[in-house]
Amino acid sequence: MKRVVVAIDGPAGAGKSTVARRLADKLGFLYLDTGAMYRAVALWALRANIDLNDMHRLEQLALSSDISFKDQGRRVFLNGEDVTEAIRQPRVSAAASQVSTIPGVRRALVQKQREMAEGVSVVMEGRDIGSVVFPAADVKVFLDAAPEIRAERRAKELQQRDGMANSEEVSSELRQRDERDRNRAEAPLVQAPDAVYIDSSKLSLDEVEEVLLRVVRERVSNGRELSR
Ligand code: C5P
Repeated sequence: MKRVVVAIDGPAGAGKSTVARRLADKLGFLYLDTGAMYRAVALWALRANIDLNDMHRLEQLALSSDISFKDQGRRVFLNGEDVTEAIRQPRVSAAASQVSTIPGVRRALVQKQREMAEGVSVVMEGRDIGSVVFPAADVKVFLDAAPEIRAERRAKELQQRDGMANSEEVSSELRQRDERDRNRAEAPLVQAPDAVYIDSSKLSLDEVEEVLLRVVRERVSNGRELSR
């Protein structure tokens, strides 16, 4: 079978990560969470006390960062250290959205993303996969959900992880990040013209997965069975 690229873009809390990983598992593809890479660079910048407006130093940081994944993206490593939990802190989410506005940082990470996916079938998830990283992707999906549903999902996720989450704070953090991601000059979050739009507000995970599998089959195998 030829190599297949599935690009899933959309705002935070739309359910991209969970569903992209499930889809990748089902298809036997590699799963790549590009948001984790922006988070890893942001974490390093925060720890090193680098001014988040210092474009030059942040580009250097992104270029020299060694980011890798294990266990189908469940564990994230920065320079050999397991940072899976550390990159999910709210302050890192906010910093990731800041450092991701810097063109040099994006260039460095997009290059790594293309290298990691070289020659293998992949489900890649982020904000600019269908528009910038793989504009010729075989399948493009824009996964969305109503803002209040996304905030609710994110609050639940943080609650499960840390045992606490202020839903007001979560929803305002999400709103700010969204606004920045959609309005930045470089590679803003947009729906690619040839992407399939899916609103997951009223769908269960199983339902979203089903729709995605159908879209992949339609686009890639002319309706023939593709999953394992
Ligand atoms: O997907 P996640 O919410 O983990 O991404 C964290 C931040 O990284 C996003 O808010 C966005 O600013 C940035 N990002 C990006 N481009 C991507 C993936 C993530 O700018 N492809």
